[in-house]
Amino acid sequence: MPAFRYPERKHRRKHGPQGYQSPAEFRDWLRDEFAFRCVYCLEREQWGNRLGHFHIEHFVPKAVQPEQRLSYDNLLYSCQGCNLLKGPKTVPDPLKVFTSGTVVVRRNGSLHGRTKEAKLLIDVLQLNDESYQRRRRLMIGILSAVAKTNPALHRELLGFPDDLPNLATLKPPGGNSRPAGIKQSYYALRQSGQLPDTY
Ligand SMILES: [Zn+2]
Repeated sequence: MPAFRYPERKHRRKHGPQGYQSPAEFRDWLRDEFAFRCVYCLEREQWGNRLGHFHIEHFVPKAVQPEQRLSYDNLLYSCQGCNLLKGPKTVPDPLKVFTSGTVVVRRNGSLHGRTKEAKLLIDVLQLNDESYQRRRRLMIGILSAVAKTNPALHRELLGFPDDLPNLATLKPPGGNSRPAGIKQSYYALRQSGQLPDTY
């Protein structure tokens, strides 16, 4: 199920903007960092109305470590539902425990965790609740149908958004601890003709 395939490896951050005064200012960096998807459930910006639906999630809750509120490495990109369900809980790190090898996505939309931590994260986030399962089942069915009948729509649903952020133009007040990541940004890949049609 390419639409719901978790990353092959543990995530290593490619960007490192510093010094913004509000979490929202990190948004474009996080969109690019996490490929315009929710890190927990893989919901994509391309599948609906992005505005208001994607949040900046604090992995270590603000209540636990307020000083990490504006630390890029503590911020995740998440859909509204997952952000609400995660809330102020302390949970296993999705960037480490959710990979294509540790989470199996079944055609009926259910998830199967293959490790203790992946199972725990699935449980805490309620990622096997009926509404999440239904969403996955519907998207898998829609994508399978349009793959044959409407290739342009299929590419749109599994492709990148048009408004890829040009991170090279952003100037984080405290600099960027990982400047090499700019060349790996999806905007830069599109500029050099290396952006895949779908992912
Ligand atoms: Zn989500």
